[in-house]
Amino acid sequence: MVPFRKQIHPAHPTSADIRNRRWIYIPYDRYTDRTGPLSEQPPEKTGIVIVESTAKAMRRPYHKKKLVLLISNMRHFALEQAAKGCSVLYHFSPQSHGQALLKLQSDLALPELTVMKPAERELRIDLAQAASNGLKLREVPDTTWLSTTNDFLNVYGPYKHGRSYVMDRFYRRVRQQTAILMKNAKPVGGQFSFDADNRNPYKNQIPIPAPPTFPPDDLTREVIQMVSDTYAHHFGSIDNFDLPVTQADCDTMWAFALKHLLPNFGPYEDAMRDDQLQLFHSRTSPLVNLGRLLPADLVRDVEQAATAGRVPLSSAEGFIRQILGWREFIRHLHEQTDGYRLLRGHIPSELAQNRKPRQIHQKGSPNQAPEAAHAYTQPAAEPDPYVGAAPSALGAALPLPAVYWGTKSGLHCIDTVVAQVIDEGWSHHITRLMVLSNLATLCGFSPRELTDWFWFAYVDAYDWVVEPNVLGMSTYADGGLTATKPYVSGAAYINRMSNYCGHCQYNPKTSTGPDSCPFTALYWTFLERNQPILGSNFRLQMPYRTLAKKSAEELVQLRTRADQAITHLQSFTRPKY
Ligand SMILES: Cc1cc2nc3c(=O)[nH]c(=O)nc-3n(C[C@H](O)[C@H](O)[C@H](O)COP(=O)(O)OP(=O)(O)OC[C@H]3O[C@@H](n4cnc5c(N)ncnc54)[C@H](O)[C@@H]3O)c2cc1C
Ligand code: SF4
Repeated sequence: MVPFRKQIHPAHPTSADIRNRRWIYIPYDRYTDRTGPLSEQPPEKTGIVIVESTAKAMRRPYHKKKLVLLISNMRHFALEQAAKGCSVLYHFSPQSHGQALLKLQSDLALPELTVMKPAERELRIDLAQAASNGLKLREVPDTTWLSTTNDFLNVYGPYKHGRSYVMDRFYRRVRQQTAILMKNAKPVGGQFSFDADNRNPYKNQIPIPAPPTFPPDDLTREVIQMVSDTYAHHFGSIDNFDLPVTQADCDTMWAFALKHLLPNFGPYEDAMRDDQLQLFHSRTSPLVNLGRLLPADLVRDVEQAATAGRVPLSSAEGFIRQILGWREFIRHLHEQTDGYRLLRGHIPSELAQNRKPRQIHQKGSPNQAPEAAHAYTQPAAEPDPYVGAAPSALGAALPLPAVYWGTKSGLHCIDTVVAQVIDEGWSHHITRLMVLSNLATLCGFSPRELTDWFWFAYVDAYDWVVEPNVLGMSTYADGGLTATKPYVSGAAYINRMSNYCGHCQYNPKTSTGPDSCPFTALYWTFLERNQPILGSNFRLQMPYRTLAKKSAEELVQLRTRADQAITHLQSFTRPKY
């Protein structure tokens, strides 16, 4: 096995290369030469700088497979570019990306670097700090996106407290603007969204095709060894790494998804199984977020497949809505709110005043809500740019319990999904929303802690995508900026959409008593506890009417069951990193 350092060494620039080539810094999540500065001149006139930063990898206990995915793609990308004729300055550094670039530029007399605007805010801040210390860096627009900031602003205007951001408005606008799935200015099939058709549970109706495998090559094995040695204390399992790390493998994975998964994506989009992690989901997010797969290519391929009749319209539209709608919307929202930092005061003050802190009925229990639980827990002083926003519109402030690190809770749905995440660093949308986040929201676990957990635990997580999805969509921590109501449910939804409950010690059909599913009692007590804030929400009128009909005796039993469940979940010790 030839170590990576030896393989990349011949591409190291000479002083003539440094003088005569255009130098481009490749951020860790933009490995592409299909668009952007790397596509603008021939490889023999191009030099690229790549930084492998230990400081960044150590910033949080990232899943070991995420580190392998990122670093192996980074090294393969460097070799791919070298093979095309680029000069490659591959730099290992204990420092941050910005600090490392500053030092490189001064040590090697590197000319101005061009960078495609990084997607991650955290990297933008790092580079801005380096630029203020003298780094010569020219930022050019990120052409991997399908929409511009102006597209977003034209729909919603600049960020304003109290404004509601309904994604559908943006989606319709970009569909019209890009003419994707449009005919004569009308949506193909007569409607913009087929979401309502996409709600079937999966009961082996159609066999799930086995995805291609990507066993590690020598270079990836070297990375696995390095990650095992250096980041042994990090989250997740490194065993059986099987993700694409070359451009060719990424393309193979997408070709498979398009041909074999997309035709059935729509109807089973919301289904969950304990014996099937992926179902018909494309699992493209880690590769799209790295720049290995381009959203424009994915959308074009799916549209063509729909036009040719290879993918039903409901599946094609469902997939395109995720990429062209949600993914673009989410990143604009993150940028416009400065990673949710501008949200201070978004919740109307009368709601915040009416809100009662979470009450746990056992005195002195570890679950008692801290005194300081209030709607927005932002530091008053000049904020550290790296400290994440911590909105908590519903006053959720309990620490995230050890079950998210793999301690078995006995709740089969949670235990299953957490085990899948520990194994793979990935699970699909509904398991993130209606299992992991649902439990956290119902119990009142801190939305910020949950966000940080998702950020390090998932291979596709970066600040721009994880923060709006967790603080906004899945926990209602933003007070309704993104979602018109909290995405919460009792056992009925999970039972309908999965096979989890059939393998669980708890009974999804009962809501009180020791054998009852905790989700249902947690659901009713969540509604009761948050009635001052949510009681007037028009989308929650039905459940609030049902709550109002419950007898005082049943309410006491529900509260007892919910408190028992939270006490149980919080009784395990959480690992420290
Ligand atoms: C609590 C929570 C946390 C999430 N965190 C992340 C995250 O860290 N990174 C991430 O990429 N997605 C995140 N999502 C969105 C979504 O769950 C994943 O993008 C999706 O499950 C990835 O699987 P897939 O590639 O098979 O997607 P598919 O279901 O096949 O969808 C196709 C593509 O659409 C994009 N997409 C779909 N939904 C979203 C969305 N809400 N936001 C952004 N892109 C979307 C993805 O890039 C994905 O590749 C989160 C959702 C929730 C509810
Ligand atoms: S019964 Fe409740 S805890 Fe068990 S799997 Fe179903 S929803 Fe989850």
